[in-house]
Amino acid sequence: MSVEDGPDYATVSLRDGSVHQADMVIAADGFRSEVRGRLLPEVKLEYVGYIAWRGLVDEMSLSEPTRDALLFEKFAFWLPPHEQILGYPVAGQSNSTMPSERRYNRATSEDVDLPDLLTDATGKRWIGGIPPTLIRPDVLADMEEAANTLLAPQFAEVVTKAKQALFQPIFDLEVPKMAFGRIALLGDAAFVARPHCGMDVIKAAGDAMALTAALTSDSDVRRALAEYSRVRTQVGAAIVQHARHLGAYMQAQLRNETDRVMAERYRTPEAVMRETAVSARF
Ligand SMILES: Cc1cc2nc3c(=O)[nH]c(=O)nc-3n(C[C@H](O)[C@H](O)[C@H](O)COP(=O)(O)OP(=O)(O)OC[C@H]3O[C@@H](n4cnc5c(N)ncnc54)[C@H](O)[C@@H]3O)c2cc1C
Repeated sequence: MSVEDGPDYATVSLRDGSVHQADMVIAADGFRSEVRGRLLPEVKLEYVGYIAWRGLVDEMSLSEPTRDALLFEKFAFWLPPHEQILGYPVAGQSNSTMPSERRYNRATSEDVDLPDLLTDATGKRWIGGIPPTLIRPDVLADMEEAANTLLAPQFAEVVTKAKQALFQPIFDLEVPKMAFGRIALLGDAAFVARPHCGMDVIKAAGDAMALTAALTSDSDVRRALAEYSRVRTQVGAAIVQHARHLGAYMQAQLRNETDRVMAERYRTPEAVMRETAVSARF
């Protein structure tokens, strides 16, 4: 696939040999964006040194003391040194919020040997992300053992009862601009923030709204995309930076003085709970 800007239209050439021309091309192709790779080959996903395990548990499969202690209506945290787990209720299979059908969602972050975790039982390494069903049993067993050792018993129960754990390597990604003539990047294709802010879906939606607004107020596509880029590049960079600061205390290797200061600032439970998934400043 290739994409090219031009004075009258942008051109996309696909692998099947077809060529498409359009007034503009919006690349909303996610964090491994091929279009971004073409336009900004020097911009790379930066693995930050830790992963997030994620899992879902049916509310009614948890013991009563755990259901009560986890305060199902609330956002619950447990913060061992350099790690964190947080959990919250989400709708059940049929999108139901009835207690009998709700599920509990948890995410826990820890420092790991990523290449080893991405290797399945046959020895194949899934560089782009391992399918959850291929995560090795010993990796899952280590994760559960860590949960039993490090976490409050209620959270340990949630971790060990989750049906299909998966993990997400955490990346930072920033582009210097989001528009290239008639081509624009949107959402994760442009900026990937660590999950601590809980802002990624909102960021993509905000990009889409800003793009619509820019195209509505200026019929010149190039100017409209340039304005969109001007506004949203600042927002994306601010979100990535804030999420990086929030996550600094989980990194074993702090890269610079700013990381060290931020790790210290967001080390306390009060600071973590005050800032996690809070979007007011953006
Ligand atoms: C496990 C996990 C949990 C998450 N939880 C949260 C959360 O709780 N809150 C939150 O805000 N964010 C969360 N995120 C992040 C959130 O999912 C992303 O930030 C968001 O989906 C980005 O939206 P997007 O439209 O930019 O990209 P995506 O949702 O990644 O969509 C990109 C789309 O482009 C398609 N695509 C890619 N390449 C091509 C191609 N060459 N041709 C055609 N199609 C292509 C992909 O198949 C995909 O459908 C989570 C992410 C993960 C992985």
